Amino acid sequence: MAGTILDKIDSQCRDVIRRHSTNCPVLLGRLAAELGVTIRIARLERRISGQISREDEKYIIRVNRYEVRERQRFTIAHELAHYLLHRHVIDASPRGIRDNVLYRSGAPRIVEYQANRLAAEIIMPRELLIRKLGSNGQRVDEKKTERLAAEFQVSPLAMKMRLETILGI
Ligand SMILES: [Zn+2]
Repeated sequence: MAGTILDKIDSQCRDVIRRHSTNCPVLLGRLAAELGVTIRIARLERRISGQISREDEKYIIRVNRYEVRERQRFTIAHELAHYLLHRHVIDASPRGIRDNVLYRSGAPRIVEYQANRLAAEIIMPRELLIRKLGSNGQRVDEKKTERLAAEFQVSPLAMKMRLETILGI
């Protein structure tokens, strides 16, 4: 089987993610706590969705309190992905990584691309999603996409993109 973005992270963290990949919605708060990351719902500037920074020895994710819950969940997964993949980038700046509403932070595009891929993997785990799709997996209409989005607590657009990746459509 082809490698996934999960292969890029250390095996201990991967095990934590796997343990949280069996039921939906994925419990991001618990996952973050097990990874040693603190989540705060914060008053961020309007165009900023989230950020992750290192404060003393702790890593803290701040997510914009004014955005909808599904969006906040994806942002948390995106920032966790930065923590897992790009700690050196976070550590290199006192402000850490700050993502705007397009998940652009000023870091190289590959960094944001990887974070989005890992975020999708964390919040919509491939095997769990395939199981939920059932035997008629190839026939996914708008209604089914919306139902799955609600089940995984993500936006219908995020689910649509994830299904396109997984099903190759
Ligand atoms: Zn980012």
